[in-house]
Parts: sequence; C-alpha cells; structure tokens
Amino acid sequence: MGEAVALGIRQRLLISHLFAVVVLAGAFGAFVYASAERQLIERLRIQLAETAGGVARALDPHLVAAADGDATARAALAAALANEARNHADIDHIDVVRERDGARVVVASSATDAAPAARAGDLGALAPLPGGAGYAVDLAMRRGEVGEKLYILRLSAALAFLVCVLVALLLSRHLAGRIIARITDLTARCRALANGEPLPPRRPGPHDELDDLAREFDAMAGRLRHAAASREQAAAALREANASLESRVRERTAELEAANAKLKAEIEQRLHVEALLAEAAMTDPLTGLLNRRAQMEMLEQAAQRLKPGEPGLSIILVDLDHFKQLNDRYGHSAGDRVLTTVAARLRDLCGGAQAHCVARWGGEEFLVLLPGVRLAAACKRAEELRREVAALRIDRIAQVTASFGVAELVGGESLDACLKRCDQALYRAKEAGRDAVVAAQGALFATMS
Ligand code: GH3
Ligand code: MG
Ligand code: MG
Repeated sequence: MGEAVALGIRQRLLISHLFAVVVLAGAFGAFVYASAERQLIERLRIQLAETAGGVARALDPHLVAAADGDATARAALAAALANEARNHADIDHIDVVRERDGARVVVASSATDAAPAARAGDLGALAPLPGGAGYAVDLAMRRGEVGEKLYILRLSAALAFLVCVLVALLLSRHLAGRIIARITDLTARCRALANGEPLPPRRPGPHDELDDLAREFDAMAGRLRHAAASREQAAAALREANASLESRVRERTAELEAANAKLKAEIEQRLHVEALLAEAAMTDPLTGLLNRRAQMEMLEQAAQRLKPGEPGLSIILVDLDHFKQLNDRYGHSAGDRVLTTVAARLRDLCGGAQAHCVARWGGEEFLVLLPGVRLAAACKRAEELRREVAALRIDRIAQVTASFGVAELVGGESLDACLKRCDQALYRAKEAGRDAVVAAQGALFATMS
C-alpha cells in the first residue's frame, strides 16, 4: 500500500484559506452580483422610462393623430422618431403605438425597415402621449447594450473574485510563513535540547497558542536541564565517594597487609625463639650436645619402638677419668675445654644422623645411644671411641682418658634396669683401672680392653 500523501501545514493552511475564500467570496460575490444586476436593470428601466416620457412630450400630438390615417404624416412622424432615436445612442428604435381592441398597433417607427417584433427579455419602456387618445411612445434599448453592461458587470465580479483569491493566497502564504517560522523555531529548540546545546533565542511573536507552547517548552527544558545538572552532580558526588572509598580501602588494605606482615614476622620470630628455646631446653649449653632430659626422651621413644625378635638398642656410658684431678691441676676452664673437645670428637665419630644420639649425661659423663645395634657391635664401637678419646691431644693438658660401660636393652627389660646395668659396667671399667670398656650381659660383665 502506498503511503498517504502527507500535507504540510503550509499546504493545509493554503487549501483551507482558499476553500474559505472560494466559498465565502463566491457566495458573497454571487449575492452582490445578483443585486448589482437587478439594480442595473432597474436603473436602465427608469432611464428608458424617462427617455420615453421625454420623447412623448416632444412629439406633436396633432402629427401623431394625423399619422394614424395619413401616410405623409406617418412618414413625418417616423422621421421625427428616427431623429429622437439618433439622439439616444443606447436606444434601438422608438415606436408610437396605439391600443386598439386590446392589441397594440404601431402607428409609426423610427426604424426604416418593418418594426422589429419585441423579443422576450428585451428592455423597453412605454410612455403615454400627453392628451390621451390612447397613443404611447414605445422604445426599446439597443439589443447588445444590456448584454454589454452585464458583461462588464460580470467581468468586474470575476476580476474581484480573482483579486480576492490572490489576496487570500498572499495572506495565507504570509500567515503560514509566520506560523511555520515559529514551528521551525520550536523544532530547532527541541533539537538543541536533545543535543544538550544551549537553546537559541526565542523569536518575538504574538501571544497566542504557539507562544504558550514555546513558553511551556522552555519551562520544561529548564526543568530537564536542572534535573540533568542535579543527576550529574549526584553522579560526580558518587564518583568522588567511590574514589574516596577505594582510596580508603587501599589504605586499609595496605595497613592490614603491613600489620599482617608484622604479625607474620612476629610469629616467625616467636617460632624461631620457641625453636631456640626448645633447642636450648634439649641442648647442653657447654658442649652443644643433647642434654640428659632430651636423651632420656630419645631413649624412651627408641625403647617403645622395639619389636620382639628384632635387634634392640645398645647404650654406651662414657666417663672421663680423674676429671676432678684435671680440674684441680689445670683449672675449671681447662676442664670445660676438655669437655667440649671430647664432646665434639664423640659427635664426629658417631656422625650424621646419629650425632643426636650422643648426649652429655652428667658432669663429665656422656651417653651414646645406638638404636638397632647389638651388644657386640656396641662394644666394638665403644672400643673405637675409647681409643679416639685417648688419642686426643689438648693444649698444655696431659692425656685424657675415659672409661666405657656398654649394655643392650633386651626384650622385656626396663630402660632403668638397662641403664643401671650399663652404669655397673662403667663402674667395673673404673675398677679395672680406667681407660677401659666393660660390657654388661645379663648379670655378667666382660672387660673388652
Ligand atoms: P673417676 O675417674 O673415678 O671418675 O674420678 P673423677 O675425678 O673423674 O670423678 P669425680 O666424680 O670424683 O669427679 C668429677 C668431677 O668433675 C667433679 C667436678 O668438679 C667435675 N665437673 C663436673 N662438671 C664439670 C664441668 O662442667 N666443668 C668442669 N670443669 N668440671 C666439672
Ligand atoms: Mg663421673
Ligand atoms: Mg670421672
């Protein structure tokens, strides 16, 4: 389907004005024309009547009466009538007529040919001759005269109508132009509002509906701009608040991270201190070896891990010989140096993971734990240790020797009983003259060296 032809306001105004002008001016013009035509005909009739009256008064009544029966008088009357007709340019012909038996008879006529029959619609006038006798002057207007006058009247009416239409067109164009200009102005304001541009200045115009519409539009635009500015302000405040919040969050995060790092460092330091303390609790401060308490724990754990039928554990108790005399002779610090030197040697000899199995058991006593080692191998190991200790050379100090007691924890035996037997073996080594290894096997003791 084709789109309906949309007429613009300019065309609509033009059409409506033309329609109004055609209808109103046409109706009014027709009325004016009809009354003008009637007045014209009436005026012509009066004029003809006056002319006819003038002609009737001018005619000689005797000549008229004679002309009714005498041809010569009739010719003279006809000449007089022709003379009168010539004096009036708009008169076609003038007759002298008489009413006879109800019919009108022409006595004489200004027309040279036979008197023309009066036609319906022809304009004429009848004036009785003074003195009566039934004679009257009958004249008729020239045939084209009325039509000519009416033609001029019609032409004037048509011209007036055309002028009306033309003026209507110009007025309509002017009026439409003013309305269109204000609508265009309003459209430009709408576009400026939509694009966020400042409104163009309003054209001055009459205070009418369009002016009201423009004012309302300006008020609405003002409210919209105010609302947009408020929204922008709120958005800016929100952005600022967000930025501030983000900044505070970053600051707080940094503070928390710093606090967390500090706490972590403190925890690590505390753990380190605790580890140091734990190590210190297990370590002999002079020699760096395990202390008696730690070694006791290791002994108990190793004893608990023992399984029936599997090789048990052996212990070697080491006691420096005549250490009191050494202290007395070289001084306590020299005694300490001997203790640290012997301890380091024992640790090196036990080596690696077994280093922790060497402990300072008492003043000048050491205990070596040998997990999974049978008594014979332990004795062999103790003999090696004895020779190594005896081989130590310490500055300005005479030879250092130690005595060794060896025992193996057998199935079902308590740790205390084993330690006691080991101690007894050590005592036997001392009795045997020191710098010796004695093994305890059950109730028996065997001197190895
Ligand atoms: P024995 O051969 O019979 O073992 O004789 P001993 O002198 O070694 O044994 P005793 O038990 O009579 O003397 C041990 C000495 O060890 C006494 C003590 O002053 C000394 N002593 C204990 N602990 C330390 C210490 O940490 N440093 C020093 N320098 N001496 C210590
Ligand atoms: Mg001792
Ligand atoms: Mg001793």
